[in-house]
Amino acid sequence: MTSPVWHPFFQHGLDEPIPPVASARGALLHLTDGRSLIDGISSWWVTTHGHCEPRIAAAIARQAATLDQLIFAGYTHAPAEEVARGLIDIAPRFDGQPRLAHVFYSDSGSTAVEVALKMALGYWHNIGQPQRHRILVMQHSYHGDTIGAMSVGERGVYNAAWTPLLFDVGTVPFPAPGSEQACLDALEAACAERPAAFIVEPLILGAGGMLVYPANLLREMAAICRRHGVLFIADEVMTGWGRTGTLFACEQAGVVPDIMPVAKGITGGALPLAATLASAPIFEAHRSTDRARLFYHSSSYTANAIACAAAAANLAIWREDDVLARIAGLSDAIAERMARLSGHPAFANPRQLGAIAAIDLRTDDAGYLSDLAPRLRAWFMERGLLLRPLGNTIYIMPPYCIGATQLDAIFAALHDAGEIFG
Ligand code: PLP
Repeated sequence: MTSPVWHPFFQHGLDEPIPPVASARGALLHLTDGRSLIDGISSWWVTTHGHCEPRIAAAIARQAATLDQLIFAGYTHAPAEEVARGLIDIAPRFDGQPRLAHVFYSDSGSTAVEVALKMALGYWHNIGQPQRHRILVMQHSYHGDTIGAMSVGERGVYNAAWTPLLFDVGTVPFPAPGSEQACLDALEAACAERPAAFIVEPLILGAGGMLVYPANLLREMAAICRRHGVLFIADEVMTGWGRTGTLFACEQAGVVPDIMPVAKGITGGALPLAATLASAPIFEAHRSTDRARLFYHSSSYTANAIACAAAAANLAIWREDDVLARIAGLSDAIAERMARLSGHPAFANPRQLGAIAAIDLRTDDAGYLSDLAPRLRAWFMERGLLLRPLGNTIYIMPPYCIGATQLDAIFAALHDAGEIFG
């Protein structure tokens, strides 16, 4: 019987396998047919501590039996208050002082980005400079699939149909080795034209190909924005929650953004929730006795109480466990194995940032429409792995609880994939 389910980023016409997963624990997914898969990409980069983390699962169960959902326009609940305070406590700081002082909830990385863009334009509008509405972006970026988030991301076959809906942005080149100065010069020139904001993925561009750039460049980009009074939006949706080795990637550059969307690992990966953190001036530009200036954004499930309880449990885990030490151990374990794989002639451009590692298969068959990535995905699935290459880029982003033998299994498969597909 054919399923009525329409899957995201999936070509149903190609009849690729869609394995049903019955349960999950730690880094393992258990299929209904009895097989297991090692979740090498944290189920789209969300699962941090491991699947069905008992403290998070218990918090969800407690909250579901206490207060499930509440209209959030002018009402509040303890989990939302607790998580907001917790986020402010751990967010990047300026001279030890929190600059990010306000938290707006939503339910996905894309909507957290939409909120960030709306906050930026709302700020300029409300302080009497509505002409400052242009957004600057970095080439190869990905910020989500809603209309605004797509507008500030790379354009290509994956959003061609919606071009008429997307707004115009200013694009600065990715600071690849050799073009760092070109990137900074382009940003400086674009900032001089008084745009509203610059949005960037800090230190690593994810869906654009796991492209890494150094912290000093992020610092210089933030400084350029600051000099020109352009709002600096750091999209920590993927990089947050320890992925790059620090809790947030911005910390490595000593940068404090004006607006910071976070999502994915905010609940440890158990439930959809997102937050957009904003500085006091952004909030104050909307706070007034004038109803016309309020922040006109919401969705039915804004700050869902069960999701907030999961996020509170996640924050407690970050306080109780030495998660960063676990990530450092994992990063070392990945680095050791990457070093061995890097010598393989089928691969190029090995790169790693914290617990994220990527390598490119040397092949001509690498375009977005090539069937290389789906063939690799199916082959990895047969090997008991959930990996989802981006074109010819194979990357791993495992849950932090993954074990050494599971990592070995992943790297043995990467090696063999080089032999077969390289
Ligand atoms: N921003 C970045 C940097 C991302 O990597 C993603 C998702 O991968 C998003 C935004 C969108 O998040 P979501 O898929 O939760 O809408």
